[in-house]
Amino acid sequence: SKEQRRLLVTGGAGFIGSNFVHHWCKQYPGDRVVVLDALTYAGNRQNLSSLAGHQNFHFVQGDICNDALVNALLKEESIDTVAHFAAESHVDRSILGPDAFVRTNVVGTFTLLDAFRQHWERRNQPKSDRFLHVSTDEVYGSLGPDDHPFTETTPYAPNSPYSASKAGSDHLARAYYHTYGMPTIITNCSNNYGSYHFPEKLIPLMCINILMGKPLPVYGDGQNVRDWLYVGDHCSALDVVIHKGKPGETYNIGGNNEVKNIDLVNKLCEVMNELAADLPIRPAQKLITFVKDRAGHDRRYAIDATKIKTELGWTPAETVDGGLRRTIEWYLHNRDWWQPLLSAEYQAYYSQVYTQV
Ligand code: NAD
Repeated sequence: SKEQRRLLVTGGAGFIGSNFVHHWCKQYPGDRVVVLDALTYAGNRQNLSSLAGHQNFHFVQGDICNDALVNALLKEESIDTVAHFAAESHVDRSILGPDAFVRTNVVGTFTLLDAFRQHWERRNQPKSDRFLHVSTDEVYGSLGPDDHPFTETTPYAPNSPYSASKAGSDHLARAYYHTYGMPTIITNCSNNYGSYHFPEKLIPLMCINILMGKPLPVYGDGQNVRDWLYVGDHCSALDVVIHKGKPGETYNIGGNNEVKNIDLVNKLCEVMNELAADLPIRPAQKLITFVKDRAGHDRRYAIDATKIKTELGWTPAETVDGGLRRTIEWYLHNRDWWQPLLSAEYQAYYSQVYTQV
């Protein structure tokens, strides 16, 4: 992996994308990193502000559905590697308004794939080019309590407009390898958590509500299981996949950390009780409020990450306890980051989803 790369990172101003950009610029300061991000509600220029002085970093605000813009960027920047994160990413929003999910996740991914195909063909199909399509374990649907975790051969069975749109984009990425030989790789990762995570998602939502003394809405009976991975470990996995992964392959990424939602919320309360001096309501557990379940709520996700571990030698570095503590500390020390995100738009979204709190 000594060769220098020229990356186009779509969605690089979002949660995982920005963590990935920080990871890459630190690990490979000689590589070019161009971010293309539309700065939707979930995108935040602040997430990348510390890279302003980095010579090889460039930010472009724009839409992945804009094929003229994508074509021009690939060419002008001589891109050889695409790391595609841009997406509408929140299941609850996909239930309220699926249109944007089909547009960005399906049409946007298609636009990028086809622009990259033309660019790759014009340059005589370099073997070291990569198109990394970053996806989710939610495409596999829901597991029963005793089912084996998802492997790369688990049949697709998406249940939400979000996961269905991601499944559609995965199929396109796969087809571009099989039809055109384009070096696409797909990764399906479990739930991430860490810094720069938008307030609507479970872990930041709970951290922020605890700090504000607001109810902690837990869907249904709280027994839904998610497999949590620290975002830094996802980034190190994607790094390994770009450098060592095989074109045409799929890699599942996960940390083997299945936790029930209610146990996770209790854990967050415990650590907050310990770390935050100025909680409005203490102990924070008093704020837990069960609410009407999410429509079509998947019961359990779990990832079998044997393939990436054995074939590419990746292992996660963080434990759930350690990662959650780091994340809680980040939300405690970065109120200036999340406070402005609780906008009128956000409040309107919030009251549509959590009608009972
Ligand atoms: P996010 O919502 O935090 O960020 C998405 C980014 O994409 C934002 O910066 C947004 O501005 C940008 N974007 C949206 N539409 C765009 C468009 N049309 N053109 C250009 N940019 C656009 O999402 P995230 O949690 O960082 O997820 C990133 C990727 O990882 C997604 O593809 C998601 O499906 C996948 N993923 C996420 C998780 C998770 O737990 N968050 C787990 C597995 C996979």
